[in-house]
Amino acid sequence: MEIDVESKLLIVDDLPENLVALEALIRAPGRPVFRAQSAEEALTLLLEHEFALAIVDVQMPGMNGFELAEMMRGTERTRHIPLIFVSAAGRERNYAFQGYESGAVDFLHKPLDPHAVISKVNVFVDLHRHRKALRHEMELLAHAHRKQEELVVQLQVTQRELERAVRMRDDFMSMVSHELRTPLNTLYLEAQLRQLHVSKGNLAAFTADRLPAMIERDQRQIRNMVRLIDDMLDVTRMRKDALSIQPKPTDLAQLARAVVENLRQQAEAAGSEISLQAPAELPGVWDEFRIEQVLTNLLTNALRYGGGRPVEMVVEQVGTGDDGFARVSVRDRGIGIAAEDQARIFEQFERTEHSRKHAAGLGLGLYITRQIVDLHGGRIGVESAPGEGSTFSVELPLAAPRGSAQP
Ligand code: ADP
Repeated sequence: MEIDVESKLLIVDDLPENLVALEALIRAPGRPVFRAQSAEEALTLLLEHEFALAIVDVQMPGMNGFELAEMMRGTERTRHIPLIFVSAAGRERNYAFQGYESGAVDFLHKPLDPHAVISKVNVFVDLHRHRKALRHEMELLAHAHRKQEELVVQLQVTQRELERAVRMRDDFMSMVSHELRTPLNTLYLEAQLRQLHVSKGNLAAFTADRLPAMIERDQRQIRNMVRLIDDMLDVTRMRKDALSIQPKPTDLAQLARAVVENLRQQAEAAGSEISLQAPAELPGVWDEFRIEQVLTNLLTNALRYGGGRPVEMVVEQVGTGDDGFARVSVRDRGIGIAAEDQARIFEQFERTEHSRKHAAGLGLGLYITRQIVDLHGGRIGVESAPGEGSTFSVELPLAAPRGSAQP
């Protein structure tokens, strides 16, 4: 591969006329020549430029050519610059020896033979070009190699992500089937039992005092299934980035009262009582349907994991205007959550080991809840200790952020 390499040449001689003559001899396109009239001047130029070759007069007042070469060998930047010493023919055998010792590469003798000068310079310039081209190629190779390694790493990451996605899908499918089976089985068994009663003419099993409990049992199983399916649908929507909120003026206090009322039966079934502390009204701009979902999620969790003990919900306003927000806390006295689990339960499919014994679930409710709270520009957190219950708190700015209504 051809690359455009400039080969700078340095000539050092104390006599200006020698410099002029030498320069005239060796100058060519792509080969700028720099002159120095002393070793000191040469050193300055050597620090500023990268030379392909230095042609140095041996005999100079002050620092001579060999001393200059010695100094050049002592510095990394100049150590590898080829040198041609120019000496008076036959007079400097000792010097010649010294010169080679210090790593000099060649000699020219005065009077200079133009042909010899040009051909030697050409050799070094070619050498310099080849070296440069080789270094350039090595750099390109190293670059390509680095790129390749980056690609391999990227591929590995993608592969791991894919594997994880496939694993998650499989886990999800088995989890969904498992979780749906439980309420379905119960319903199925109930239906079979009733069929048995009917076939035996045992209508006493369906008396007025038994029917409400029967219906309540069915409803509970159906609710469980509906909740699971709703969670699944919401998560699927989130994957497609389609979960949106449509904030409108909403009274959070009234909404909380309605949610607690809706859950009265479920609370009774769980053996818990929900108490609500809320102002007469708490107006703000939120997506009513989505916030209802948040409150319902937190309350049903408190009932499901609350160990049949009372659940308290507090709705309050903190501050006013732009900095004001509404806070909803839901406190239960149930199984609690260990500190190391408190962050991950807000992620998809994350459940605590302990909670599996207490209720069926996909580990999606809190994930959905957090997304809804985020869309409202709010925050959600939990304080809890195992065996001592949990308090989930949601803070919502009184007005949802602009642009949140876009689908
Ligand atoms: P799930 O449907 O599995 O309950 P969630 O996302 O609502 O899904 O909750 C995730 C997990 O967080 C639960 O499985 C449970 O381990 C834990 N959790 C949530 N709420 C409570 C709570 N009030 N008390 C104890 N653990 C809770």
